Amino acid sequence: MLRTLDRTLALAAAMLLSIAHSAHCATKLDDSALHISPSPLMNGSPFLITLSIPSEALSVTGDWQTHHVLFFSNSDHRTWFALAGIDVELAPGSYPVTVEANLKDGTHQTLHHQLTIETAPYLQVPLTVPDKFVEPAPKALKQIAADKIVKDKAFATSAPTRQWSASFLPPLPLAPESDSFGNQRLFNGKVASVHHGLDYHAKLHTPVAAINSGRVVLANPLYFEGGCVVIDHGLGLMSVYMHLSKIEVTVGRRIRRGQIIALSGASGRATGPHLHLGVRWQGTYIDPAKLFELQMPNPH
Ligand SMILES: [Zn+2]
Repeated sequence: MLRTLDRTLALAAAMLLSIAHSAHCATKLDDSALHISPSPLMNGSPFLITLSIPSEALSVTGDWQTHHVLFFSNSDHRTWFALAGIDVELAPGSYPVTVEANLKDGTHQTLHHQLTIETAPYLQVPLTVPDKFVEPAPKALKQIAADKIVKDKAFATSAPTRQWSASFLPPLPLAPESDSFGNQRLFNGKVASVHHGLDYHAKLHTPVAAINSGRVVLANPLYFEGGCVVIDHGLGLMSVYMHLSKIEVTVGRRIRRGQIIALSGASGRATGPHLHLGVRWQGTYIDPAKLFELQMPNPH
């Protein structure tokens, strides 16, 4: 009798479990819901995550390295996108990315995915600049410290919503100096640093366009950067324009994609007239050339 009851209970429990399991499986996401571009992925590259889900989600977030990734969606709330970056210093290998969807029906779905990161071929380049940029005098050190406060403040907060639209545009109608992002530079044989941007050999006073829409968060002359403008594109993404001869925008101003924001120059730690463009995502610098190649969604 007891044994029969046991068996009945066990059967009932198994049925309940099976019902719960199939209900869960109805909206269970797998790797096919996730699309990541470009391919292959390399250190220093931006990447676009697209999540397609069968039911509406209220929000989608992700975890990548030490970053919390915010997604934005189409109006149907079933296709979600996020732009993220791979640190240039990240060693090749396989790394986890986690995506969590908070569905309208009150359930959560979590996807774990491994990203394979390959090595980008970055070069070592010796450069010569005036000594004051390699061994700054005490007065310059004061300015460098003051600049750091200005930059930290500008970089500290990014708009919580996406400010950009469509794909990113180059800042000049010129080809960039090839492979300049990620180079390991040795200044005057002494100071080594990784080059965190793309250089364009622009003649003095060439108009510089914003790579996408956003808001100006810095518009100042700085010691190393020279004339410098930073635009916040939201969701942690910012673009940085350096060595400018003339700045034509002020902090707080809204900027349209392609709008002229400055004239190029040779100010700061520059070996000659050029535009340095940096793209920063949550404190990580990514290769602007790879950002221009990414086909960005235009959510409706
Ligand atoms: Zn540069």
